[in-house]
Amino acid sequence: MSDLLDATAREIARAVAERKVSALEMAEAAIARVHARDGAVGAFLTRTADLAREQARRVDARLADGETLPLAGVPVALKDNMCLSETRTTCASRILEHWIAPYTGTAVQRLLRAGALPVGKTNLDEFAMGSSCENSALGVTRNPWDLGRVPGGSSGGSVAAVASGMATIALGSDTGGSIREPAAFCGVVGFKPTYGRVSRYGLIAFASSLDQIGPITKTIEDAALVYETIAGVDPMDATTVARSVETALDGLREDLRGLRVGIVREFDLAKLEPDVRAVYEQAYRDLERLGAELVEVSLPTADYGVATYYLIAPAECSSNLARFDGMRYGLRVEQADVGATYEATRAAGFGDEVKRRILIGTHALSSGYYDAYYVRAQKARTLIARDFEKAFAACDAIACPAASSAAFEFNAKSDPVSMYLMDYYTIPMSLAGVPSLSVPCGYVTPAGARGPLPLGLELTTPLFTERALLGVAHAYERGTQHGKHHAPPSLESAL
Ligand code: GLN
Repeated sequence: MSDLLDATAREIARAVAERKVSALEMAEAAIARVHARDGAVGAFLTRTADLAREQARRVDARLADGETLPLAGVPVALKDNMCLSETRTTCASRILEHWIAPYTGTAVQRLLRAGALPVGKTNLDEFAMGSSCENSALGVTRNPWDLGRVPGGSSGGSVAAVASGMATIALGSDTGGSIREPAAFCGVVGFKPTYGRVSRYGLIAFASSLDQIGPITKTIEDAALVYETIAGVDPMDATTVARSVETALDGLREDLRGLRVGIVREFDLAKLEPDVRAVYEQAYRDLERLGAELVEVSLPTADYGVATYYLIAPAECSSNLARFDGMRYGLRVEQADVGATYEATRAAGFGDEVKRRILIGTHALSSGYYDAYYVRAQKARTLIARDFEKAFAACDAIACPAASSAAFEFNAKSDPVSMYLMDYYTIPMSLAGVPSLSVPCGYVTPAGARGPLPLGLELTTPLFTERALLGVAHAYERGTQHGKHHAPPSLESAL
């Protein structure tokens, strides 16, 4: 059983469907694995062993009734900004530390309906604001490849759970890079679908024009499987798009012949450390070797992405987080009057980064500054989206680094801007809404690292072309095999 935990979701679901192993046995194996490993990794804020067992019994019964369940018995980890009924859902914030979700969000429901087993809720930067998981108010998550380093963020717990073999698949949320950057840091696949593809019903909002849920997996094939399961229109989320979700699994390609891959002129690899640069140069050569024609494309406004994002995202968060005032959800620091209760609750409940964003956002939206900041940022966003449209007239997919370095050590980025710059390569795609993923593309061993650290190649395609994107990524993954270590080879010895 514990061997099967290192298999892919497809392999597990097949073994469970063929009754070679029961879902309950898978649940027990995953629970034992979490027990053995999470002390060192710290991926989970809440373990849901009983729910996993209960769900496994249901899955076994449904299989006995002859149902077909594409994710039967597959252990799944859920980022703790997604509601799971009757389970603590914290956003890694003091303000929601003891809040119990009253319902289950759509994407999670769809996974459960397909037979997945929820093993726990994973750590994140508070309200998904950050790139290292260090902004969590409730725990530390370590990178399974080097326990002295961050897993990335904000979906750090979800990627660490998959990378350390505690869950086979996970859900993350990506607003400016929070699935792709941590996936790159932990050597797994992280996929942000097109904005509007996956329902956010039950995802606690950070920046609503950007937030998107997506899969974190060991392979592209599994990412396609999870994507097909969770994507599609949902009456509970009016931003979901009523377009049919093409099956992604049968679009997976074995080579890249006839494909034009765009290399972005402005993303000059010379800006990177030489060892990191060498990995990306090799990745581009591998795309060519697999049959792609490399073409240069330009995203002239991409450089404004970080500045644009850090107006739009805080503006939206200042509005979304206004609901946490001690009246309806979570923490309440009772004072003599309502105003003082709001203030004391929010002062005690939110961490520094969340407060910083609320302040920036409130300022950017205030009369007198609205046009200068918020409106200009919206205009810049439009230009960035147009840059992608133009680039995609000349290529079928864009390839670039998912992050400018491998995972860094704890406390390495003490000023907020250096942390914000971690999303330099992921934010433009979020602003444009286009589907984008990170797939393992090689390793570097920086001075002081305890072993090799993974890097991720970011691949991006036009709006609503997830099938093509997964197809390209699958060919790259098959043709290079960088992700073949499903768990970090050093993990066993580190534990
Ligand atoms: N790191 C970015 C931020 O802090 C992106 C976060 C995310 O995608 N949720 O906002």
